[in-house]
Amino acid sequence: MSMKSTLETLESVNSKYGMFHAKTSDTDPGDAKFLFSAKDNLTSKDMETCAGSRILEGYFPAFDATAIARMREAGGKLIGKTNMDEFGFGTFSTNSGFEIPRNPYDLERACGGSSGGSACAAAVFEDHVSLGVSTGGSICCPASFCGVYGIAPTYGRVSRYGLIDYGNSLDKIGVLSTKAGDLRKYINVIAGRDERDPTSCVQPELRNEGRKMRSVAVPKEGVEGLSKDVEAAFNSALDELRRMGIDVEMVDMPSLKYAMPAYYVLATSEASTNLARYVGMRYGRQDGDYTQKFDEFFSGVRSRYFGDEAKRRILLGTFTRMAGYSDRYYSKAREIRQVVIQDYKGVLKDHDAVLAPTMPFTAPRFDDISKMSALDNYKADYLTVPANIAGTPHMSVPCGYGSDGMPIGMQFVADHWDEDVLFTMAEDWEKEFDMKKPEVGA
Ligand code: GLN
Repeated sequence: MSMKSTLETLESVNSKYGMFHAKTSDTDPGDAKFLFSAKDNLTSKDMETCAGSRILEGYFPAFDATAIARMREAGGKLIGKTNMDEFGFGTFSTNSGFEIPRNPYDLERACGGSSGGSACAAAVFEDHVSLGVSTGGSICCPASFCGVYGIAPTYGRVSRYGLIDYGNSLDKIGVLSTKAGDLRKYINVIAGRDERDPTSCVQPELRNEGRKMRSVAVPKEGVEGLSKDVEAAFNSALDELRRMGIDVEMVDMPSLKYAMPAYYVLATSEASTNLARYVGMRYGRQDGDYTQKFDEFFSGVRSRYFGDEAKRRILLGTFTRMAGYSDRYYSKAREIRQVVIQDYKGVLKDHDAVLAPTMPFTAPRFDDISKMSALDNYKADYLTVPANIAGTPHMSVPCGYGSDGMPIGMQFVADHWDEDVLFTMAEDWEKEFDMKKPEVGA
């Protein structure tokens, strides 16, 4: 499909899948070299940016996020900002203040989250690359549910300038695409030092040596609690890896069990401070009664326009940071984070990557999600959060399809700054794996 025809069908494709919050109305690709989309928590000059929250409605940023600016400089045309869970709070993109993206393999099912719209766009449009953001798994989860490749690079590899923060010590911008080669190509475009984000400044060069993966470690804790379909697909993927000459070894990583509770303490602690800036005065929504006392005014705007999950996380995160409780929760969670990092470092001394399924089940149906409690939602992330709290690069690649026809992904986690071995793995895997694209159309 040419870029022009993609642009001409954007409206009708979006009305079927709901991947975009904002999109271009321009049908002329001009001299663009490629089309891309970006998660709606990355600021963009020419499109409304809401991060999935109604409190930001009407916010047109004055500047591009560095990652978006670099994609444009490389010849990319931004075609849309993708729907997501409000501020990244979720696993299915159903916590969006706007439209909920629908899975390209089955419209009754979720795309995963929180970069659900990005995974959907990557799966639906041909030759399309989408920028996503991961705090606790928001690139790999939707990549797995939508059957595409997705990578979250090492924390600090890509500048967070212009990213609407969820958890500043956790957020990473990465890439989703149906083509394995796009991971290397576009991480190279967006990575690197940026004076405007101090956490991106000092970093080892991104290597592109094509370093082969020789051995993977499969943690016992990573193969517990899987659905039958995921277990079967993962086991046959392991056989395939062995055939490709890769050593597969089972290991123990006991800290992985504690990563999920630690993550939700760290993430909500940071989120609750980040959300304090939305008071209906500086960005987005500005309606309210200006004769009110300031705290009544702020509370009114926040009650009206934050969704339930955002409110829950403000409460949780405020509690875990409170005097008298922070030692018991926040400080403990930080200690667990160090133990998880040490666990990865130990295993990655002898192996090129840690490998497990990305998600324990395939994309759930919307009616099943509505029956899940908040805790059920959080628990679904137990396989993706460990690499995220460790800040290690991780990638989901499609590895099979369930009896329901839905895609299944597996997640490789490499050592800090070692994206090269992941890129090469994706490129090698693509040659072996029989990808079944969804039937798409407007
Ligand atoms: N599902 C996780 C959460 O709700 C991760 C989301 C993310 O990475 N933004 O926090």
